Amino acid sequence: MAESDIYLASDAVNAEIVKDMLRAHGIDAHVEQKNTWMGAASLPANMAPRVRVTDPAQQQRARELVSAFEQGPVDHGSAWTCAECGEFILGQFDRCWYCDTPRPG
Ligand SMILES: [Zn+2]
Repeated sequence: MAESDIYLASDAVNAEIVKDMLRAHGIDAHVEQKNTWMGAASLPANMAPRVRVTDPAQQQRARELVSAFEQGPVDHGSAWTCAECGEFILGQFDRCWYCDTPRPG
């Protein structure tokens, strides 16, 4: 796993969620290999999509965010949309990461 590989996703959707989460924090994240499975009968483990952050100055922060993402309570609630800015927020977050508006309800 290269230094710039921040997160190895189980599938392309998961990779996109993590990428969007990092970008919402101002980190220039990219998803790689998300289309390599197309046409293949099965997905080799080493071909799983990965989220990369190429800027070394952002990698530590990115790893912390991914770690929090992975350790977050999975049953905390379903994903929600911020009423203030319309940002899509994952269920384990109680506040909008973009504008800090609390989860409604
Ligand atoms: Zn918001």
